[in-house]
Amino acid sequence: MYDCAIVGAGPSGASAAYHLAKKGRSVIILEKETLPRYKPCGGGVAPIVAEWFDFDFSEAISLKVDTVRYTWKMEDSVELPLLEQNIKPIWMVRREVFDRFLVDKAREQGAQLRSPAKVEGIEWKENHWQLNSSQGLFAAKYTIAADGAKGPMASWLGFTKRKCLIGSAMEVEAPARVLDKNVAHFEFGAVANGYAWNFPKADGYSVGVGIFAGRKKQHLKQILHDYASNLFGINLEQIRHHGHPIFLWNGQQKLHTQNAVLAGEAACVVDPFTAEGIRPSIFSGIQAALAVDRAIAGESDALEKYSELLNFEWGKEMAWAQRLAQLFYRAPGICYQQAVKRPSATRKMMQIFCGQLRYSDAAGSAIKRISGGLLA
Ligand SMILES: Cc1cc2nc3c(=O)[nH]c(=O)nc-3n(C[C@H](O)[C@H](O)[C@H](O)COP(=O)(O)OP(=O)(O)OC[C@H]3O[C@@H](n4cnc5c(N)ncnc54)[C@H](O)[C@@H]3O)c2cc1C
Repeated sequence: MYDCAIVGAGPSGASAAYHLAKKGRSVIILEKETLPRYKPCGGGVAPIVAEWFDFDFSEAISLKVDTVRYTWKMEDSVELPLLEQNIKPIWMVRREVFDRFLVDKAREQGAQLRSPAKVEGIEWKENHWQLNSSQGLFAAKYTIAADGAKGPMASWLGFTKRKCLIGSAMEVEAPARVLDKNVAHFEFGAVANGYAWNFPKADGYSVGVGIFAGRKKQHLKQILHDYASNLFGINLEQIRHHGHPIFLWNGQQKLHTQNAVLAGEAACVVDPFTAEGIRPSIFSGIQAALAVDRAIAGESDALEKYSELLNFEWGKEMAWAQRLAQLFYRAPGICYQQAVKRPSATRKMMQIFCGQLRYSDAAGSAIKRISGGLLA
């Protein structure tokens, strides 16, 4: 009998495992893939996550970018040097490396890993969860569902109608000699209701495109090919493309049930404006671990408090992100001119992404400015 079974070894599951094992609890991670595994992702990580752990992340980071460049319809470029603005460089990670690194850190603390172990069903048995997996049955007093946007755990736990905005994205990992190793690029005009990105890694690029609002059908593959070849001279024809849903935050909701909580993208934590998911997944994983630890210690409302904390700490921020997203994706051209191109607005946006500023402290004035532009 484990104290806690964690389903999924992504950033949320691995972070939960690390913090719970560090508290001395017995933890089993069940991961359906063989690690290290690929996850479609740009791999841009806010450096603030380093503050939530007591070890050095250097070996899990492919490189750090200190400049962000934006374009509109592949032209009209704007650049923000982060260091000049006292913004820490953003990490660029390969997810197979980053996620494996976090899992290894959790194992060093005593967490056990079964991989590949696909969870195929769960059952509440009087005082514990029984998890039926491709590696047999596991029993645990608590469970954390950290199985991402495609995982089945949330609906098995009874969360059949999660508040969630479902976006979609496509990523290609293009091997290349990287020239601009310090620049992350975003293109806003090539795709409606989203953006295209090119994030450098030590040995190539992560090029991708995502739609984070609306239902307009778009040919993502063609948009991605045009973007990569026009701006970077990269031919994506022969390289594998990976599509993946993104579960964006769409309002406050209960994230706990009988001896179980949702964490990471299973809890729909992704920022609906920037589509940043790694930092909130790690944050929720850690909070889930702390809540389970307190529940095991006898605090009867610990899991309820987890839902409250996520809704309060992250949800309040995401309400602002949602407002910005609604404005931005309604009139991206005007927003590009009125906000993105303004150095102060771009600086604030990057401070938010890096966890150095809260939406609640900056979004109000941005919304006023953009609304003014829309009315003009
Ligand atoms: C194309 C794309 C680009 C993105 N780029 C960025 C970016 O640059 N920066 C950023 O911050 N966010 C980005 N995101 C979002 C980010 O990737 C996710 O929010 C993040 O991976 C969520 O972490 P997680 O731990 O909740 O889930 P995941 O990382 O999805 O991990 C879930 C794990 O659960 C396992 N699993 C699923 N079902 C089962 C089962 N039945 N049994 C056992 N295991 C199971 C999966 O195999 C997986 O390993 C991007 C998303 C996409 C789709």
